[in-house]
Amino acid sequence: MKEEKECLFCAIASGSVKADIVYRDGETLAFRDVDPKAPDHVLIIPLKHIGSLGEMPDEDSPLMGKIIVTAKKVARKLSLESYRLVINNGKDAGQSVFHLHAHLLGGRLFGWPPG
Ligand code: AMP
Repeated sequence: MKEEKECLFCAIASGSVKADIVYRDGETLAFRDVDPKAPDHVLIIPLKHIGSLGEMPDEDSPLMGKIIVTAKKVARKLSLESYRLVINNGKDAGQSVFHLHAHLLGGRLFGWPPG
C-alpha cells in the first residue's frame, strides 16, 4: 500500500510508528487511540492514504463499508453492545490527523447532541 510521506497513520500502518493494534486485514487497520476519550477508544483507518472523508474519491466509497465492518468486528471483540462511531471531517469538526479514520468509542454513557 502506498505510504504518504509525513502521514502519522500511514507510519502506523507500515509499522514504523508503534500503536496498540486491535485488528488488521488487507484493507483496514484498527488501533487504540493514544489519548482515549472513553474506556474503549479505537481508530479504524483504511490502509490506503485518503486525507479525509470529503477528499475520498467516490470510487473508494466501498472502503467506508469495510471500515464499518471492521468497527463492528472490533466492537464484538471488545464485547461492546453500545458504542458510537464518529468521523470528524475537517478541522472545524475536530479532525487533527489528515488520514481518514473512524473513532469507535465505548464503555461509558454518551450524551446527545455531541459537543
Ligand atoms: P481526529 O481529531 O478526529 O483527527 O482524531 C485523531 C486522533 O488520533 C485523536 O483522537 C488522537 O488522540 C489520535 N492520535 C494521535 N496520535 C496518535 C498515535 N500516535 N497513536 C494513536 N492515536 C493517535
